[in-house]
Amino acid sequence: MAKKNNIPPTDQIDVLGHTYAIGFIDNMSEEEMGRCHTTTQNIFIRDDLPPTLAKSVLLHEILHAVHWLSDLDDASTEEAFTSRVATNLRCVMLTNPALRDWIFS
Ligand SMILES: [Zn+2]
Repeated sequence: MAKKNNIPPTDQIDVLGHTYAIGFIDNMSEEEMGRCHTTTQNIFIRDDLPPTLAKSVLLHEILHAVHWLSDLDDASTEEAFTSRVATNLRCVMLTNPALRDWIFS
């Protein structure tokens, strides 16, 4: 079970018009801290992370969703990444103010 201060204020997030469920799980390997399943629109965070790390991992997984929805991959240029992520991450943060405030607290 996630520690109380690790729990985001909502269990879902709107990523560019797509609703992703946010869940905590306890069956990840030692190296894995989170997962983003773009096809099922699920974000999983391991449940034993300290609060600031849980927030960073959630942001990391949100960025995976943003990259996928922005049609960015390993072959994309730095300029393409920077331009699309700046615009689309800003959109995600504006659409999800409670979650944004929690991540940056
Ligand atoms: Zn990753």
